[in-house]
Amino acid sequence: MDDLKEMSNFKSEARLNMLKDRTKRCVCKFCGNKLRLKRIIFSSYEEVRVEIFCEKCNRIEFGVEPEIYTSAKFFVEETKFNHFADLDENERTKQMNIAKVCDIMSWENMNLGFLDKEGFKVPVEMNENLLGECITLKEKDMEEIIKTLDSIDSFSAIDFVQKPLDGE
Ligand SMILES: [Zn+2]
Repeated sequence: MDDLKEMSNFKSEARLNMLKDRTKRCVCKFCGNKLRLKRIIFSSYEEVRVEIFCEKCNRIEFGVEPEIYTSAKFFVEETKFNHFADLDENERTKQMNIAKVCDIMSWENMNLGFLDKEGFKVPVEMNENLLGECITLKEKDMEEIIKTLDSIDSFSAIDFVQKPLDGE
């Protein structure tokens, strides 16, 4: 019995550390905001559990790597990706689309062995053009960036991805 108890203490401590690290590192896959740990009481089980929480969305959120969120947001904005065609287009459905693409990108990265719950397993070199929104840009800078985007080969890969989606 003691062994079992020790095992479960160890497990819950490991889980807590994993959650703490994710809170420091990850962002909400819907709104992109910082996350925090929260003690949540599940009344039906009379159980108290620590979970990662997004204050802005008011929901339990496991979080996503910030690089993936930035990529997903860029992808949704540039390709007008819309998984929820039946719903009105608004800020809420945009967030749902970004979260959807975050799930797809995370799933892929996990399956290729680049990512696990502790974060990326390989050094990440982020395409700086995707980080545009983190910098305050003047209109002239923006024109420069759009020009740069047009000339980047990887950008046309997005057109390539979009075609099969349109053809569904
Ligand atoms: Zn959120």
